[in-house]
Amino acid sequence: MLKKLAFLICLLIPVSSFGATLINDTETESLLRELVLPLSRTADIPDTHLHIYIVRDDDFNAFVRGGQDVFVNTGLLTQIRTPSAFQAVVAHELGHVLGGHISQMSNRISAEATRTMLIQALGVGLMVAGGNPTLGAGIMAGSSGVAQQSMLAFTRDEERIADNMGLSLMAQSGTDVKGFITVLEQMRDISGALESKINPNRINHPLTSERLNNIKAQISQLSDYTPPSSDEMLRHTSEYERVRAKLIGYLEPASRVFEKYPYSDKSDAGLYARAIANMRSGDLDTAATGTRTLISRHPNNPYFYELLGDIEYQSGNYDASASAYEKSLSLMNKSAPQIETALALVLTARNRDGDNARAIELAKRSLLVSPAPLAYWVLARAYADQGSGLQDWAFAEYYNMLGKTNMAHDYAARAQKQLPKSAPEYLKCSDILSIKTKK
Ligand SMILES: [Zn+2]
Repeated sequence: MLKKLAFLICLLIPVSSFGATLINDTETESLLRELVLPLSRTADIPDTHLHIYIVRDDDFNAFVRGGQDVFVNTGLLTQIRTPSAFQAVVAHELGHVLGGHISQMSNRISAEATRTMLIQALGVGLMVAGGNPTLGAGIMAGSSGVAQQSMLAFTRDEERIADNMGLSLMAQSGTDVKGFITVLEQMRDISGALESKINPNRINHPLTSERLNNIKAQISQLSDYTPPSSDEMLRHTSEYERVRAKLIGYLEPASRVFEKYPYSDKSDAGLYARAIANMRSGDLDTAATGTRTLISRHPNNPYFYELLGDIEYQSGNYDASASAYEKSLSLMNKSAPQIETALALVLTARNRDGDNARAIELAKRSLLVSPAPLAYWVLARAYADQGSGLQDWAFAEYYNMLGKTNMAHDYAARAQKQLPKSAPEYLKCSDILSIKTKK
């Protein structure tokens, strides 16, 4: 049985099965990583081993697997009140890891599950998904054999240990321990009605109120603790608000977005959420105007240029789109595989002299950092005018990532007929052909 850890659900509620779509977004991933790093470093997890996955799921939930893979649901990210409350959730989950509440066996099985999960890019990726049914069918339903998972119920003792270890991770790493109180209060608000009907002596899980009292007592006894600077907290808060607005803008129906961020809201977060919702509803001019306002306020923010690139692409303004993505990449001080893929996509759509060659270079670079179906799809498109089997190979990789093994085999076999045996893509096709089809 696959064991997985949940935070709120360290309560009572079963979690939906894990046949999940992962979301790729450079902005969201960078912020979450920045927030988790102080905790993972204190827990002696090497930076290169830390992986953060964003799961498209409305449940208020997060868990850590294998000691270093942090899974965070969009439902948690869009609802949680502060960045330090998010850190408290991760700290609690790391507390379960440090407390030895997970077995090695479960880690091995779940690595298999991760491999089969699908990855979807925000922005252009979602748009392309609309015109491309195989990519749009991004939800992997029960094909991994581990989809039926029941929640691991932690005992009362294990929950308290995880809370205590999590709090001490927060204190040692100099993050804001008040986040622990914030999230437990929020959980109490969410689950309070349910819990009030429960007799605490008859269940094996600690009630939120009990956990809250314990954490408050622990915090009052902390010595030698320095909270983060108020500058850092302010910066995290404003970045967090933008990321939340972005996720809401992309994932919720437009009407809900405009309810949460009405036009009277002139904050960056409000402008961001509405620009995205307007783009998704096809009101591209309004979306572009809002995005340009954001750019005028923050001319060095690469993500606002990324959004402008998405909007211009959808408006069919390929030149403007390509230059917005180029600007975004030039402002980025790290690799940004989704933006590289988006630029490659625009170049294949524009298809001027040299565009496909550049698109191939960009898609390959992005695949080195973060393999994603969309990048293979773009690569296949960029190889269109090369009758050398490379396009068939790229489609084979694309279908393989989508878990469509039969299609992947067809393309891989076709690619091998055209590719020289010494080509690296030939060998990659052999790998794909050795994958068993699912019955
Ligand atoms: Zn727990």
